[in-house]
Amino acid sequence: MNSNHTEIHRVIGLIGGMSWESSAEYYRLINQGVRNRLGPLRSAKLLMYSVDFGPIEQAQHEGRWDDAAALLEDAARRLQQGGADGVLLCTNTMHKLADRIAAAVRIPFLHIADPVANAARTRGYRKLGLLGTRFTMEQPFMRERLQQQGLEVLVPQEADRAEVHRIIYEELCTGRILEESRRTYQRIMAQLAGQGAQAMVLGCTEISLLVQQEHCPVPVLDTTALHAQAAVDFALEP
Ligand code: GLU
Repeated sequence: MNSNHTEIHRVIGLIGGMSWESSAEYYRLINQGVRNRLGPLRSAKLLMYSVDFGPIEQAQHEGRWDDAAALLEDAARRLQQGGADGVLLCTNTMHKLADRIAAAVRIPFLHIADPVANAARTRGYRKLGLLGTRFTMEQPFMRERLQQQGLEVLVPQEADRAEVHRIIYEELCTGRILEESRRTYQRIMAQLAGQGAQAMVLGCTEISLLVQQEHCPVPVLDTTALHAQAAVDFALEP
């Protein structure tokens, strides 16, 4: 075995900081993925441009999406200038702006929904539960991308969407993992499974900090892990 000679062909570019709690997971998972594929001392070639989430979160909640887009387009360009061969945006929510960010650079943009749809299709799931911020659960950008790939998407009812959203911003993005909130997510996931969801999309990059497979009655599709895996495939493809 001379795995040490396997070349890493591409530099991964990450737009992080939304929140950094999940960006740290991307960094860990991508490096772990490269280690698993190439050997114990191998690690990813990657750049991360980590934004200040404060102004972005404010822009989201005030509906100033153009302001947020300008910041993320700038981040993507900086990664390209720094030598990244592809860009990943480490948040589901800001994929609302995916087309604009992708258009700001010449290098490929690896959309978070695509590895999720692929995983669902290869494993034979047609109907998916989707948890995430209100933006992700209620606006079309994530749902439609999954639907275009032949999948059906169920989201929680209004009061539960509000609670899922609140827990993301007030707790998970601030590094607080509470048992009570885990139980709330468990209840909501069980309800979606009862409505026919065959798998559960953890459609916010911090959710896997709170719930894992053992907390959900149907298989989970964790967007953070699947997106990180897609980055590793991209980096190692010949
Ligand atoms: N990281 C989260 C997501 O995947 C929420 C934070 C944000 O609004 O970007 O949607």
